[in-house]
Amino acid sequence: MSNSRDEYNYVLSLLEQHHKWFQENIPLIASENIPSPAVREALTTDFGNRYAEGWPGERVYAGCRFIDQVENKCIELMKRLFKAEFVDVRPISGVVANLVVYTAFTEPGDTMMALSIPCGGHITMGKKELGGTAGAVHGLIVEYLPLDYKELNIDVDKAKQRIEKLAAEGKPPKLVMFGASVFPFPHPIKELAETIRSIGGTVGYDAAHVAGLIAGGQFQDPLREGADVVSLSTHKTLFGPQHGGVLSWEKYAEKIKRATFPGMVSNHHLHAVAGVTIACAEMLEFGREYASQIVKNAKALAQALYERGFNVLAEHKGFTESHVMIVDITKYGDGGTIEETLEKANIIINRNLLPWDIKEGRHFQHPGGIRLGVSEVTRLGMKESEMVEIAEFIKRVIIDKEPLEKVRADVAEFRKDYQKVHYCFENSTEAYKYIKIR
Ligand SMILES: *Cc1c(COP(=O)(O)O)cnc(C)c1O
Repeated sequence: MSNSRDEYNYVLSLLEQHHKWFQENIPLIASENIPSPAVREALTTDFGNRYAEGWPGERVYAGCRFIDQVENKCIELMKRLFKAEFVDVRPISGVVANLVVYTAFTEPGDTMMALSIPCGGHITMGKKELGGTAGAVHGLIVEYLPLDYKELNIDVDKAKQRIEKLAAEGKPPKLVMFGASVFPFPHPIKELAETIRSIGGTVGYDAAHVAGLIAGGQFQDPLREGADVVSLSTHKTLFGPQHGGVLSWEKYAEKIKRATFPGMVSNHHLHAVAGVTIACAEMLEFGREYASQIVKNAKALAQALYERGFNVLAEHKGFTESHVMIVDITKYGDGGTIEETLEKANIIINRNLLPWDIKEGRHFQHPGGIRLGVSEVTRLGMKESEMVEIAEFIKRVIIDKEPLEKVRADVAEFRKDYQKVHYCFENSTEAYKYIKIR
């Protein structure tokens, strides 16, 4: 027998169990991170219950006195972090930020270019047939940017040819979206911007994964390299709450603003905007050190995995220059099964398509790869030597096939020393502490 009070307690207990689990596991999902206690505090505020449609100072609703000050501060700090002339912090996620870009810079029926999903592209860049946002929601015709499988990067010469061919066929790409969800190396914006502009296209850059690295002066600087517009998520390498944003130039401000509101948001998650503002202040103070440690950690983890027999891709160029690496796991099974097995040992990674998987008959449930990211473990204070320990845990599970409960116990023991959030002003509350305020 259950009643609503039981259901209520049940849900709360699940939340608490989740927190306990994350105190004991190794979080290696490349799109995730852990925000500071101050950001978590912002998320619990009354901002999350309010509306502020429109631009600060020109709102449709009353009651925005403090909300406007916070949002203006958010815009100001983000402009500083990314050296951007114009910033819109209202898109509520990276997906919505991409829709803002599509709406501002293209019309349904236009052609857009981006990486395919097996090559690292995101579902927001997907074709209509695949249900991707660009095709199915905004009606864009998606053509693929060619990927060099060995270099794990866009093939500049082939991309130029493809852009020019599409233009000659009367389908010039109105938008070329750089950026990806598997994004180990900086994309060739500089090399392609001129070609894109010459056929009347806009240079877009999806920084969802790498925004925190860009803010920390690592990886690349899309606005300086020729990007007209940059979309981002605020919670991947950038360590804010889940939210989005768009960076651009003053000359595009009006059309981006209109695409966001009234186009894409009504309420824009004001508690998250507050959290993003705090995260930006933390980034301004600690971002350089944090981003440089991320890249060192990623290289160290990739190297340690490689030395233990794992086929980490792009070994000839140091595996990665970002937070993420991709491993061809076919020697040991399929990505789906390996993801499940590692989770039982409290190591959280995700399965991932390799660029050539579809051609070889593999699919997303059981792909040939796994993707690992080090943003969250870096935020927990781990350095290169801990990356070697993590590689060893992964080897014990996948190669040595040690009993999972044994590895799980050792993982929990290892994690005891990393319970605080680093690269922030105040961390007296533990990273995954369950906070009760009822
Ligand atoms: C994660 C991701 C997004 C979507 O971001 P959300 O904030 O989850 O909506 C968009 N583009 C790329 C490349 C991503 O990896």
